[in-house]
Amino acid sequence: MTAASPAGGTNAELFERACRVIPGGVNSPVRAFRSVGGTPYFVARAEGAHTEDVEGRCYVDLVQSYGAIIAGHAHPRITEAVQRAVADGSSFGAPTEREVLLAEAIAERVPSCEKVRMVSSGTEATMAAIRLARGATGRSRVVKFSGNYHGHSDALLAESGSGVALLDADEAGSVPGSVGVPSSAVADTTVVPYNQVPTLDDTVACVIVEPVAANMGLVAPADGLLAGLRAECDRVGALLVLDEVITGFRLARGGAQGHYGVRPDLTCFGKVIGGGLNVGAFGGRADVMDHLAPLGRVYQAGTLSGNPLATAAGLAALSLLDDDAYLTLAATGARLATGLQHAFDEAGLVARASAVGPLVGLYFGDHVPVDYADARRTDEAAYAAFFHAMLDRGVALAPGAYEIAFPGLAHDGGVVDQIVETAAESAQTLTPG
Ligand SMILES: *Cc1c(COP(=O)(O)O)cnc(C)c1O
Repeated sequence: MTAASPAGGTNAELFERACRVIPGGVNSPVRAFRSVGGTPYFVARAEGAHTEDVEGRCYVDLVQSYGAIIAGHAHPRITEAVQRAVADGSSFGAPTEREVLLAEAIAERVPSCEKVRMVSSGTEATMAAIRLARGATGRSRVVKFSGNYHGHSDALLAESGSGVALLDADEAGSVPGSVGVPSSAVADTTVVPYNQVPTLDDTVACVIVEPVAANMGLVAPADGLLAGLRAECDRVGALLVLDEVITGFRLARGGAQGHYGVRPDLTCFGKVIGGGLNVGAFGGRADVMDHLAPLGRVYQAGTLSGNPLATAAGLAALSLLDDDAYLTLAATGARLATGLQHAFDEAGLVARASAVGPLVGLYFGDHVPVDYADARRTDEAAYAAFFHAMLDRGVALAPGAYEIAFPGLAHDGGVVDQIVETAAESAQTLTPG
């Protein structure tokens, strides 16, 4: 990257100003560093695997916009596609060709998505998918898994992972994870433990699941979980909704459903599919999707849905993700997790690094967790200490113990080795002697 432009303020100065006009100084809670302590860095620019803050400090970035970036920051192909698109107008409120191309590209990679609708965030995708599941089945109950995060719509904010896990709401069951969500909004939400197939009944409209849980640290699906959910949904006529907002187009070309060989009725996307712009999408069985207005009576709409910049970025991102890219991503995830584990072991630090394809999770405990109760036993204070040791040495992890690391195509072998060396030094600082 080139040298920093004249600073408009230090991180601390900007954060102080931000806190005066933005609640907590941030537009999404985890960014505020509350659970790790300290002052967030303000990003001025980013390129490839690196971000640079307003003070000119450079970080190897494992946040990668929480998974929205897969080919590295400011990838020239994506930048160029967006620049070209914006010159032709940034929103019309009328259909455009690229919406068709992107829907076709999704359907081609993920065959369960016979039809697709674009929205503007992952939250919107899951919110619309459960409305659709309820509308199509005429049933109300939604089953979700403890520690899975599906964005911040009311009905899904019960025992959620990600930043919600940091709020200290310890009650179990259908209890809202946030003040302001009336209990009536989650009255039809049943929360069950991850990695067990629940017994359903014919009141269930859908089961929504992260096929690889990536918002309570990283928790891989147990053998047979997804096939078991498919069978149980079929038994009672419920729909299976996979939340592939993280795994979609990242774990494999066909997402987790391609990787594990399960065919859901509906799938939610976000993050990668927007190439770093504001996008979500949901798709699935044509007969179910056709319940959406204007064909059916399930209402769903959006002023900026299928936005021309977002579809340009999404198409450009997908064009970079060939078979070689997925091999590289998986190798990078394995190399990073193995290297981190070695660094922890050498330092005598009780911590686990695990990978599922390119998704990498850290757990400060003696085993890789299998569900939320387990994941919550991670030592949050140890995570915070490790986070700061890494950040001081120029490697940025997410500032929350329940987030994962997102190495991407810009994290080449040299970058991964640098992260691992930094982790080795950082781990040493956390252990006595
Ligand atoms: C990030 C995330 C969402 C929400 O997406 P937003 O774009 O942040 O609204 C939903 N589901 C999963 C699995 C996610 O990781």
